Amino acid sequence: MLHIAIHLLVPALVAIWVFPENKYRVFLILASTMLVDLDHLLASPIYDPSRCSIGFHPLHGYIAIGGYGLMLLHKKSRLVGLGLMIHMLLDTFDCIVMDNLPLALIP
Ligand SMILES: [Zn+2]
Repeated sequence: MLHIAIHLLVPALVAIWVFPENKYRVFLILASTMLVDLDHLLASPIYDPSRCSIGFHPLHGYIAIGGYGLMLLHKKSRLVGLGLMIHMLLDTFDCIVMDNLPLALIP
């Protein structure tokens, strides 16, 4: 539950602080990137609180994250890319807190 709350709270703060004149529209776009968690449906069990999403689920893989980074470069996909990068960052913090980050991510 806390996880979902943080995934909504951070996009809301970014929308309010960074895009005050378009905050509702920006928030909807950023919050919609939570759909990336649908890739959990491919895993079994679907939800495992002790599992680190980063590098495990296909849309949380390193190649996918690189793609989200590229989305930041193009104006039309920038907001979606930003939402996805925020999502991956928050999931990474989750993994650090759980002390369960795949070693490949640590240089
Ligand atoms: Zn996620």
